[in-house]
Amino acid sequence: MSARDPSPESAARAAQLRDILVEANRRYYGDADPLLSDFEYDEFLRELQALEQEHPVLATPDSPTRTVGHAVSALFSKVRHRQPMLSLANVTSTADLHAWQESMAGFDAGAEFAPRYTIEPKVDGVALELVYEDGRLTVAATRGDGMTGEDVTANVRTIRGLPRTLPDGAPPLLEVRGEVYIGKPDFDRLNRELQERGKEGMANPRNAAAGALKQKDPRVTAERPLRVMCYGLGEVQWGPGAPPSWSAARERLQALGLPVAPESLFHVAAGIDEIDRVVLALQEHRDDLDFEIDGAVVKVDQYDLRRRLGARSRSPRWAVAYKFPPREGRTVVEDIVVSVGRTGALTPVAVLRPLPLGGVTVTHATLHNRIEVERLDVRVGDTVLVIRAGDVIPKVTKVLRELRPADAAPFAWPDACPVCGAAVDAAEGEPLSYCTNLACPAQVKGRLAHFGGRRAMDIEGLGARLVEQLVDVLGVHDPSGVYRLTLEQLAGLERRAEKSAQNLLAQIDASRTRPLARFLYALGIHHVGESVARDIARHLGTLERVIAASAEELADVPGVGDVVADSVVRFFEEPRNRAVLAALAEAGVAPAPEETRDTDGPFVGKIVVFTGNLERMTRDEAKELIRRLGGKATGSVSKKTDLVVAGPGAGSKLAKAEKLGVEVVDEDEFLRRATGENA
Ligand SMILES: [Zn+2]
Repeated sequence: MSARDPSPESAARAAQLRDILVEANRRYYGDADPLLSDFEYDEFLRELQALEQEHPVLATPDSPTRTVGHAVSALFSKVRHRQPMLSLANVTSTADLHAWQESMAGFDAGAEFAPRYTIEPKVDGVALELVYEDGRLTVAATRGDGMTGEDVTANVRTIRGLPRTLPDGAPPLLEVRGEVYIGKPDFDRLNRELQERGKEGMANPRNAAAGALKQKDPRVTAERPLRVMCYGLGEVQWGPGAPPSWSAARERLQALGLPVAPESLFHVAAGIDEIDRVVLALQEHRDDLDFEIDGAVVKVDQYDLRRRLGARSRSPRWAVAYKFPPREGRTVVEDIVVSVGRTGALTPVAVLRPLPLGGVTVTHATLHNRIEVERLDVRVGDTVLVIRAGDVIPKVTKVLRELRPADAAPFAWPDACPVCGAAVDAAEGEPLSYCTNLACPAQVKGRLAHFGGRRAMDIEGLGARLVEQLVDVLGVHDPSGVYRLTLEQLAGLERRAEKSAQNLLAQIDASRTRPLARFLYALGIHHVGESVARDIARHLGTLERVIAASAEELADVPGVGDVVADSVVRFFEEPRNRAVLAALAEAGVAPAPEETRDTDGPFVGKIVVFTGNLERMTRDEAKELIRRLGGKATGSVSKKTDLVVAGPGAGSKLAKAEKLGVEVVDEDEFLRRATGENA
């Protein structure tokens, strides 16, 4: 084997890169969502080029390195560009940008050569050529391989804000080049709509724009919020008075009603310092724009200078794309872990094969919640797109299903807390699920701080710093531990005088008999805020009854729905919580029962007598019900009696009621009124 023979690894990698690039080409135009971002495509292409240069035997005649950009699919008819749509050379550092500018400035020292430079944002979309003949939009074509693109005229004609006819005075032939894109707010709206209709969302605005442009049915394209921003020209028959520069031509386009970069984003610069300043400002403010940009395009402004500069094989010399550090990359999910936050929320996180992205190495990406995991169907071993925008936590935006290993199993969402093993509160259709355990180690500090809060048990002094000490120094691991603290322990804590320890103990002691509503709120049951806690306490009265209540009973409480009722039941069913409640009771915590009287309703202030047998409840339960509804149950019928509830076997009381003209109802009717039905 000679030194120039490729290793088996290099040969295999070259073959793999070719496959990926060919597949990406196919999908770029064949499907709604491209496989690779332009950036990734370029990266792979560069890697393949390098391999082929090193080992020329690896360069196959049909290698994707032999065409410019993405190939053309058979779906749309072909359009040959009058002038090739070259791609731009990329630079990724200001040093390379300076080198390019110096090569421009020093191009032809002998003749007069003083370039100006235009700078505009590089919109992250899909390149397009628009052909206007005699003022009418006759052809719109994609870049394709640079020589031949695809005819997407019918779709492009549906784009609002893009004129189909130009005003009088337009050149008889005008080829305009621009970027088709979807703005960020429009993209968010579109994705929401797609997901509401049960469809897969798009990974990013660029893919959404590409997909919209490639629809077979122009009516679908018309529903997509596409926009165009024009950045250059193909062939134009200006006639006399042709603009001498891009900045002048741009004004002519604007006057013809064609969309160009807004004034605030278009700059003409004289030298490198100004170029630097504008480019870096664009990079810094990219998130303030309402469309995605992935770089800035710097071009020599004057057309005569451009002609002298000419082109290399793939790109013009007179222009360069300064690419911002990538925010999107592709990597492999090595694991999916579910962590538990201080509030008990279970948060899925993808552990990634390290991915350099915008100057940092990304190793984790959030998957947000269970619903997002299900929507993405992300699995260990999957190749995913990861985006890291600004300071936001990196997130997985797309799973590349084509690259999924055959043995990748669907991710099984845990039905127990991964930290403590307690039941997880995960209502159907709700994005978040929570660990229900009062003593969950992952949330003990958050729960203790909440427990002692002003609106909960109101233990003054049980703030974040003390909570840290209680947990880390004194080993408190659930709220009951607070009630077993001794003066000695508290006084021994750093920076705590005995006097303040005494005050704290008094506070803790006083909290033992806080009203039930506060206690329920303090438990931090998912969905049970202050007002719901109050409703439950008023309706059920005692902690024992709340603990024993069924979901149906709880759902009967005004202001409590099925979701809340289920959450409460699940909380009290959790054996770990029962243990904490028992420990709290043992430590002398006895929430004060609530006065459960209703203040309005059909039984407020009413005196009710029961007689005969009740079939659906015991006599005691019936009396308790009346009491809770704000009335009173008595044993004998008199003129003061408002209502007699008579069951089978009723005797003298019924007779007396009839004699006195007191209203008599049966048990069913009583229950209807008591539960508010037929009211
Ligand atoms: Zn837990």
